Amino acid sequence: MVDLQGQYRRLKEELDTSLGEVLSSARFVRGPEVHAFEEELASYVGTPHVVACASGTDALQLALMSLGLQPGDEVVTVPFTFVSTVEVIALLGLKPVFVDVCPDTFCMDVTQLESVLTPRTRAILPVHLFGHCVDMEPLLSFARKHGLFVVEDACQAIGAEVVFSDGTRRQAGTMGDIGCTSFFPSKNLGCYGDGGALFVRDEVLADKVRIMANHGMRERYHYECIGLNSRLDTLQAAVLRVKLRHLDEFTSIRRQTAAEYTSALDHHPAFSTPMIAPYSTHVFHQYTLKLNGISRQSLKEKLDAAGIPTAVYYPKPLHLQEAYGHLGYKSGDFPVSERLAQCVLSLPMHTELSHEQIQYIVHNLVQHI
Ligand SMILES: *Cc1c(COP(=O)(O)O)cnc(C)c1O
Repeated sequence: MVDLQGQYRRLKEELDTSLGEVLSSARFVRGPEVHAFEEELASYVGTPHVVACASGTDALQLALMSLGLQPGDEVVTVPFTFVSTVEVIALLGLKPVFVDVCPDTFCMDVTQLESVLTPRTRAILPVHLFGHCVDMEPLLSFARKHGLFVVEDACQAIGAEVVFSDGTRRQAGTMGDIGCTSFFPSKNLGCYGDGGALFVRDEVLADKVRIMANHGMRERYHYECIGLNSRLDTLQAAVLRVKLRHLDEFTSIRRQTAAEYTSALDHHPAFSTPMIAPYSTHVFHQYTLKLNGISRQSLKEKLDAAGIPTAVYYPKPLHLQEAYGHLGYKSGDFPVSERLAQCVLSLPMHTELSHEQIQYIVHNLVQHI
């Protein structure tokens, strides 16, 4: 599904130099590379402040901690996502409230927001899933109208853009109050362990997040607020500074790979290829098919036998998971998420796939249905 060894070979010289410098300096926590990376990433995504932290999950938790929400406050998100999105809401004693996703983009159906609004609603947490953006223009105007915070989960969508009706373009994670991203190794911008970051527009809020990520400490051993130990390692920052310089090139390789898959599979009735809505670009963190009227399990097994890995993101929506049973949702509440969980299949997607590998994959897909 990913080829991290191949990507390392491609960047070996740059990475080894960069990592070597950190090893010689021995400044493993809060070294100068961390701040340099924050500045470079802020300029890349187009946001005033970036605060690096220890993971995408921590970024989401820090974002919600910094907004001053009270236990029982409601945060609206989707059940068709990675667990972190919902986990952090629940961990903080807030209440996750779900709306369904759109069948074509796999992202939040923003037309459903109105129907879940209550006096306790405080924030919306849209997820830019698989590298495609949520329809942010109506979401932002809804949030503004009702005085709600917006925290974007951009863990899968670094570099993707929303195109607004006046033609302006904004990158995923830079439109809400706070945007969160992950540098987990398999993400589009991945490090060699765990890492994450928050994109923050407001300077005061950015300062608060920065303090919170370091035990709530501004002056040594003086604690302003309850915080976390959530910092990005200097070694990871060194890796990310190298990879950030290649991110545009990597995104364009992903897009070419997606275009090859789509042109080979598009006309086949058994497959629905990923859609790109007019308001979004796509950075293809995943290339996810919907299967129509064929058995996913048997296709997956046949591909596996041909040496082709595939994955199901995600096999069970969060409202039906045991851990979130206390929310009181039941089967049938989010029919689109439930249907997608049955029929999605993600193909290998990374920066090292050759034309021959892609052709081999599509050939096998068509042959085995
Ligand atoms: C990866 C991911 C996260 C969590 O990031 P970690 O760095 O693994 O903690 C959160 N949300 C989504 C949608 C993700 O894909």
